[in-house]
Amino acid sequence: MNNNEVLLKIENLRVWFEIRKRMLSQPLYVRAVDGINFELKKGESISLVGESGSGKTTLGKTIIRLYEPTSGKIYFDGIDITNLNSKDLKWYRKETGLIQQDPFGALPSHFTVYRILEEPLLIHKIGTVEERRKRIFKALEDVKLTPVEDFSSKYPHMLSGGQMQRVVIARSLIMRPKLIIADEPVSMLDASVRIEILDLLKELQDKFHMSLIYITHDLATVRMFSNWIFIMYAGNLVERALTNELLNNPLHPYTKALLSAIPDPDPENRKKLREVPPGEPPNLINPPPGCRFAPRCQYAMEICNTEPQEIEVQSKHWVKCWLFNK
Ligand code: SF4
Repeated sequence: MNNNEVLLKIENLRVWFEIRKRMLSQPLYVRAVDGINFELKKGESISLVGESGSGKTTLGKTIIRLYEPTSGKIYFDGIDITNLNSKDLKWYRKETGLIQQDPFGALPSHFTVYRILEEPLLIHKIGTVEERRKRIFKALEDVKLTPVEDFSSKYPHMLSGGQMQRVVIARSLIMRPKLIIADEPVSMLDASVRIEILDLLKELQDKFHMSLIYITHDLATVRMFSNWIFIMYAGNLVERALTNELLNNPLHPYTKALLSAIPDPDPENRKKLREVPPGEPPNLINPPPGCRFAPRCQYAMEICNTEPQEIEVQSKHWVKCWLFNK
């Protein structure tokens, strides 16, 4: 396989949700995702980082077509999947997988693990009974739920949170998708199993050569995990770069603030810890006219009332800020 092949290409993607308020004749729009562009190559991974409400989950769910884009284009393996009919959408569901943050709510309580894993194979009419059995047992082995015969006969309530999330991962991988969206996959798990689950995801991504978008509000978990880090703020990507570059040379004031807020295990360094700038992300019904970070930015200037364009300040390092775009 050619690693330079682009799997996913996003062009000027917007996802606006319409809300209607009594007394108003015109609808209002929540601009959850507002003008996103990027490419992801086969086998590569992105950590998509931002505060709650930044639009990262909306972006992830739109990429796998659980939400309709308002405008822009999504290309998957060279195919425009922005407006698929239901037959092609079924094909696209096979090519992509979603791991959600809540394993407790993601698994049907009345199904055994075996039945949960068999469901996508039945929907897509894959294999004979025996072929499905082999595939289900292999999937359980892949996520290290062994002995597989024991785990396959359990119901979700008989599993720990970490084991449930392993079943969710097995289910999302059983169709051998090319792209996985993992939306805060460890945020509801005990701290003791978070690293294990992230290590497992990384291992499976490498093993099956999948592309992965890992959505998180926690920059501390992305080190060593992904090829790229994308920083999202109020519906925009404000900075994106290769992981080491972004961690060692953050440029956007918001990225710098996020990085400085990561707790350092060294007590000496902990004294230098600064906080994310005070204030809240803007209301996305009526965001600031220019840079959306301006109300919280200590470097805000007159020109920041005009929206900055994203520019590539150095090779493979993009930032959307007037400090670099004069
Ligand atoms: Fe701050 Fe202006 Fe850059 Fe926005 S564009 S982050 S307000 S300096």
